[in-house]
Amino acid sequence: MSKRDYYEILGVSKSASADEIKKAYRKTALKYHPDRNPDDSTAEEKFKEAAEAYDVLSNEDKKARYDRFGHAGMQGAAGGGGGFGGGGMNMEDIFSHFGDVFGGGGGGGFDSFFGGQRQQQQRRGSGRRGSNLRVKLKLSYEDIVKGVHKTIKVKKYVTCDTCGGHGAKDKSSIQTCGTCEGSGQVRRVSNTFLGQMQTVTTCPTCNGDGTSIKNNCTSCKGEGRKYAEEKIEIDIPAGVQEGMQLSVNGKGNAGEKGGPAGDLLVVIEEIKHEDLIRQDLNVLYELHVSFPDAVLGTEVEVPTITGSAKIKIPAGTQGGKIFRLKGKGFPSVNSYEKGDQLINVNVWTPQTVTSDEKKQLEKMRNAENFKPGKQKGGKNFFDKMKEMFS
Ligand SMILES: [Zn+2]
Ligand SMILES: [Zn+2]
Repeated sequence: MSKRDYYEILGVSKSASADEIKKAYRKTALKYHPDRNPDDSTAEEKFKEAAEAYDVLSNEDKKARYDRFGHAGMQGAAGGGGGFGGGGMNMEDIFSHFGDVFGGGGGGGFDSFFGGQRQQQQRRGSGRRGSNLRVKLKLSYEDIVKGVHKTIKVKKYVTCDTCGGHGAKDKSSIQTCGTCEGSGQVRRVSNTFLGQMQTVTTCPTCNGDGTSIKNNCTSCKGEGRKYAEEKIEIDIPAGVQEGMQLSVNGKGNAGEKGGPAGDLLVVIEEIKHEDLIRQDLNVLYELHVSFPDAVLGTEVEVPTITGSAKIKIPAGTQGGKIFRLKGKGFPSVNSYEKGDQLINVNVWTPQTVTSDEKKQLEKMRNAENFKPGKQKGGKNFFDKMKEMFS
C-alpha cells in the first residue's frame, strides 16, 4: 500500500506554518468526520489519513524526519501495530488529540459541534509515560541494499506480567482512593479577595486514577514494570544511511503503573566494507590491473555489494578510467532512484623487475607507441572528480 504525501493529504505546502497545518487539519477532519459521514468507509479512511498526517506534521521531530526521509523515516515495528508503518492510528487515539486542535479539554469543542455524541476519552492509568530508548543497530551494506528484518534484544523496563502493570498484588488490593473517593479529582475551596473560589484539580494521592493499592505486587514492588530483556522485531527499509534514526512507537521503556510506553529509537550504523566505500547512493571501488592486462585487455571479477560482477577491461585501457555498473549502488530510501557502482582503474606498476624484464622494458621505452599521448577519449582528472562526487 503506497501512502499519500502528508502535505498533499492536508492540502498545505511544505512551508506551511504550524497554525496553517492545524487549520487545514481541522477543515479536513470536519469534512470526513464519521458523525457526518455515517457508514462511509472512504470517509473514515480519509479521516484517519488526515489524523496521521497531522500527527506527524504537528510534531517538530516527526516532521523533520518526514521531510528528510519521507514515509520510510516513519516506519514502525513489524506487526507491532505501534508505528505508522503498521497501519495508522485508531479512532480512540484520534479523538484523544482533538482537545489540542479544536480547543476545549478532552475534545469538548469538537463534541459540542456534533451534538456531544462522543464520550470523553477514557481515563488512562495514573502512571507516567516510560522514557524513550535509543539503540544502535549495525547493518552491512548487503542488509542496507535489500532492506532487512531484524530481531533485536533490548534491555529495558517491560510491563510486569504478574500484575499486568497495575502494581497491585491482586484484585482485592485495588481500593477506591480515599482522598477523591474514586472521582480522580479534588475540589478545593479557597478564599480570595474576590470571594470564594472553587478549583478542581487532579487528585494528588492517586494521580487521577481513582484507586489506591493496599498491597503492592510482590514481583515488581508496585512499580508495574520490571527490568528485563525483550526481543523486538523491526523492518529496516532498503537504503537507510549511517546516523538515520527509525522510531518504533511504544517499544521504549514501559511506563510506571501502567502508564504508556516510550518509543524505541533505532540509530543506524553502517558496517565498513572490506573493498567498497559508500558515497551516498553510489559505491566506489578501486581496481588494480597489471600493465599487460591494461595493454592487451582482459576480463576481471570485481566485488559488488551483493556478491561480484565480471567486467571487461578493453585493450588499451588507461589508468584512471572509470567503469560504471548501473544500478549496483544503493537504493534511495524514499524514491525509486538507485545508485551505481563506480570502478576506478589503476594500472599496477611493478616495484621489482628481473634483469630479463628490464631488458624488454628498455626496448619498449623508446618505442613511439609507448609514449604518453593526449589520452584521446579518456576523461581528465577534473571530469572524473565531478562524476564521482556529483
Ligand atoms: Zn507487578
Ligand atoms: Zn484519588
